[in-house]
Amino acid sequence: MTPELDSLNLLDTAPALIWNGSPDGGAASLNAAWTRYTGRPLTELLGFGWQRLLHPDDLYCVQEGCARAHGGNADRRMHVRILDASGCYQRFLVSISANDANGADHGVDHDAPGGFAAAAIRFAECRADEPAHGTGERDLRFPWGHVPVMVWSTQADGYLDFVNDRWVRFTGMTLDRAQGWGWQEAVHPDDRERSMQVWRQLLVSGVEGSCEFRLGNDGRGYRWCMSIVKPRRDASGRIVRWYGAILDIEDRKRAEDALRLSEAYLTDAQRLSHTGSFALNPHTGALFWSHEMYRLYEYERGTKIDLDAVFARTHPDDIDEATRAFERLGAGDHEVDTTHRLMMPDGRVKDIRLLAHPVDYKGGKTEYAGAVIDISEAKQAERRLQQAHDDLAHATRIATLGELTASIAHEVSQPLAAIAANGAASLRWLARTEPDVGEAWLAVERMIKDAQRATDVVRQLRALARKDGTVRRLDDVNRIIQDTVLLAQPQLSKSRVVLKLELCPQLPRVEVHAVQLQQVLINLMTNGSQSMDRVDGARVLTVISSASVDGGVRVVVRDVGTGIAANDQEKLFSPFFTTKQDGMGMGLSICKTIIESHGGTITASNNAGPGAQVVVELPGAFRPERYTSARTRKADNPNLSSLMGGGTP
Ligand code: ADP
Repeated sequence: MTPELDSLNLLDTAPALIWNGSPDGGAASLNAAWTRYTGRPLTELLGFGWQRLLHPDDLYCVQEGCARAHGGNADRRMHVRILDASGCYQRFLVSISANDANGADHGVDHDAPGGFAAAAIRFAECRADEPAHGTGERDLRFPWGHVPVMVWSTQADGYLDFVNDRWVRFTGMTLDRAQGWGWQEAVHPDDRERSMQVWRQLLVSGVEGSCEFRLGNDGRGYRWCMSIVKPRRDASGRIVRWYGAILDIEDRKRAEDALRLSEAYLTDAQRLSHTGSFALNPHTGALFWSHEMYRLYEYERGTKIDLDAVFARTHPDDIDEATRAFERLGAGDHEVDTTHRLMMPDGRVKDIRLLAHPVDYKGGKTEYAGAVIDISEAKQAERRLQQAHDDLAHATRIATLGELTASIAHEVSQPLAAIAANGAASLRWLARTEPDVGEAWLAVERMIKDAQRATDVVRQLRALARKDGTVRRLDDVNRIIQDTVLLAQPQLSKSRVVLKLELCPQLPRVEVHAVQLQQVLINLMTNGSQSMDRVDGARVLTVISSASVDGGVRVVVRDVGTGIAANDQEKLFSPFFTTKQDGMGMGLSICKTIIESHGGTITASNNAGPGAQVVVELPGAFRPERYTSARTRKADNPNLSSLMGGGTP
């Protein structure tokens, strides 16, 4: 017998399965023990046939052993279940080593280049569904302890038989306690039923899935985790095992909860303060709205919002104002702060204030973050206050008129008397035998002049007594001063006040409410006159008009009276401040309200010499070209066109 034959017989008679092959796991030769043990002919086992008899759960390990054996020095050992001739799995200890081409191997096939050589010794009998080794962890044969997630695995029916070390450390529960269905104890009692339900559904449906629950124990507490599970199937599609991984998502959950809470607070705060927020990408025109924005603009949540939707709810008279605001955003303005009105489809009007500023976000790109506040209530209060001011101003005007009545009556009766006298004179000129038409003519001309003067006084009186709105128009301040003088002059004359007018002939027209300005001037002239009550010398009241640098008008009313006491300077314009016995203290306060509502200022100071002066500054006229419809200019404005998506009408 040759040594070769000896060795072949030895291999065939050995009580071990011996085989070798290439790194891909394909067997080149197997010893006769394979046929004896499995009951299958060698032809069926060659190539990859032998692998079909391995337990599916052990296959990966063996395949990997074959592939890695090449080039390695140490043998790879593992427990593997192999199906015997009776259809039962038997446990084997398998050793796989490198099969060197130089013949320094186990001698099964000297020609096999760099593959594997393997031997399997029967270990014990086991159930088909029993892990190859006593513990599930070793069964999986992977260094699961190093994996930074919890790993678990169950049999096909959901019976847990493997958890990794991390799972044990996390839950404080050993595999002995966790196996089968014992693991439920590690799930928070409140999440147990729900997670079991999910698990049962997955077992029935056989699909992969996930579930979130709290895992841990009563002593150390629980943390939110997410378990992902996937079935593993054999060649016939039958589920052979379930594999799961558990991730600790406590931090994510906390961040989500905090975010949800802060969103809820923000939404509440927005609702309570009637403030909506938005984000606008000026490059794409994309708009994001908070819940409150939908409520403010009265759109259904989820409606697609663009600038057309915004303009559809903007009051038609305020479209220009709103357009200007968005033009400024489109042009990259730093701060936008504007107020305008919205108009709902049923005609209800809301006042809003819109604030926006750019914020930098990722990649150096800029977006606008903004807030829209419903200021309807504040505006209404403001309007009511304005109305109260107007009523008060009117009441004080009437009171002033009452004070002026005596002197005005005199002022009117004077021209009337003159008319009567001139009428009588002209009759006499005409009644002569030779009527003097020339003299009569002159008398009638004087009558007309006097009648005109009386009419003017009455007209001014009526205008002052009238209660009209706040409509302003471009007007000549010099004319308003002269009209006021008509009313104030009689009183001034009575108080022996000499009125000096220094009116600038080239005064720009400014936008004013003539009657309101008259009221201011009457107040100032009356105050000036009263401050000179005790002046023995000349009581000179000077009214000066001049043009200011910004195209506005300045009016100064100067007297030579008592002047203003240092202590009173601060309180002068406060309501009800008076130093007069019968004073009401509302004159200057009303003057201030009127002038400030014109966008102007009013100040009082002492003169270098005797007396005081009050200075009124009225701003330059409103320039209409600034207000040409921005909406009609949209087409010319690339910023706004891009914001409006280019295609808006
Ligand atoms: P009233 O005339 O009813 O006192 P005003 O508001 O018009 O109310 O004036 C408030 C106070 O301001 C006056 O009582 C007076 O003390 C002071 N004041 C106003 N104008 C002058 C002035 N030209 N010279 C000195 N004091 C003045």
